[in-house]
Amino acid sequence: MNKKYKCPRCEGLNIQDLGKTIECEDCQLEFEKFDIENLDRDEVLAVKEKLAFIKSIKSNSDENHSESKLKKKKR
Ligand SMILES: [Zn+2]
Repeated sequence: MNKKYKCPRCEGLNIQDLGKTIECEDCQLEFEKFDIENLDRDEVLAVKEKLAFIKSIKSNSDENHSESKLKKKKR
């Protein structure tokens, strides 16, 4: 049975099925089906939003990492 996916952002049905992901033609955003099925609608992030989020975490942790190294050098 084919499940109908709605865009978690605009609830539009103008959806392109890409296998593991769907793309909303209206928002031009790609979402993972896994997220849509397992998260609340307002918690679902678009794929590119997730990538930006992961990047920001990585750059934050890199900063923290080098900071702790500096602190160790000072001691
Ligand atoms: Zn949409």
